[in-house]
Amino acid sequence: FFNRRFSSQPARLDGKIALITGAASGIGKATAEKFISNGAKVVIADIKEKLGQDTAKQLGPNATFIHCDVTKESNISDAVDFTISLHKKLDIMYNNAGIACNTPPSISDLDLAVFDKVMNVNVRGVLAGVKHASRVMIPQRSGSILCTASVTGLMGGLAQHTYSVSKVAVIGIVKSLASELCRYGIRVNCISPFPIPTPFVIEEMVQLFPRVEEAKLEKMIFDLSALEGTVCETNDIANAALFLASDDAKYVSGHNLVVDGAFTCF
Ligand code: NAD
Repeated sequence: FFNRRFSSQPARLDGKIALITGAASGIGKATAEKFISNGAKVVIADIKEKLGQDTAKQLGPNATFIHCDVTKESNISDAVDFTISLHKKLDIMYNNAGIACNTPPSISDLDLAVFDKVMNVNVRGVLAGVKHASRVMIPQRSGSILCTASVTGLMGGLAQHTYSVSKVAVIGIVKSLASELCRYGIRVNCISPFPIPTPFVIEEMVQLFPRVEEAKLEKMIFDLSALEGTVCETNDIANAALFLASDDAKYVSGHNLVVDGAFTCF
């Protein structure tokens, strides 16, 4: 409120309507908060009912929660329909929900059922999100679609085989659908974040390092940072999402915005 009331700049998402999956916590929640403080109304879609309701309440009257499991296509189309019935349009669809693989480091021990589960959320869920957003955005002749990929999709990493494949696929979805949807004025982009100690990363780390306490796990993640004097936070990803969602990025489409403090340059 303060920023908007006393700033001479108009809010960057004034009047925009956004639907964000996986917004009950972490990157999705930080982005919902950022979008709202920049003038948008946000529908928070998440599988976690209680956490999602609490998040919406915390973010105020411009946030609404809907239960949505992105592995169920009908849940995604319901979330889009709900957004339209509430706000009459959809300007920004952020396909952010994702899970880690929690697999043992060795490929020889990989349970392929886990592979299927991760692909179902991280790839099929994203593709379905773009599909149902496009059904509304094509007739509108406008829209900004965002997805969350990962630096792991660019470089792999120990015990990352399954997760890495899923994020390579997200980048592929973005590049392909940016070319299909550009003729309708719809932009499609993704963000590749550096590791941030959000709940899903901590759960993964607990499995990999069961004897290390949580505060130390967080420090292990922060210590990976290559950029001196700072660490990657959910707000850094929310800032990238704000740029890509806003008209500041009106000619940016098919882009993978890497937010990693130069980590993948080494
Ligand atoms: P998070 O655990 O804080 O948030 C993920 C959210 O997704 C949770 O609220 C969870 O309930 C929701 N979710 C999980 N499965 C779902 C489903 N089937 N349907 C709907 N919602 C579901 O983690 P986060 O770090 O904020 O993750 C958000 C995205 O960022 C994910 O796609 C993740 O792969 C990606 N990412 C995270 C990091 C990181 O280090 N935190 C790095 C790169 C990419």
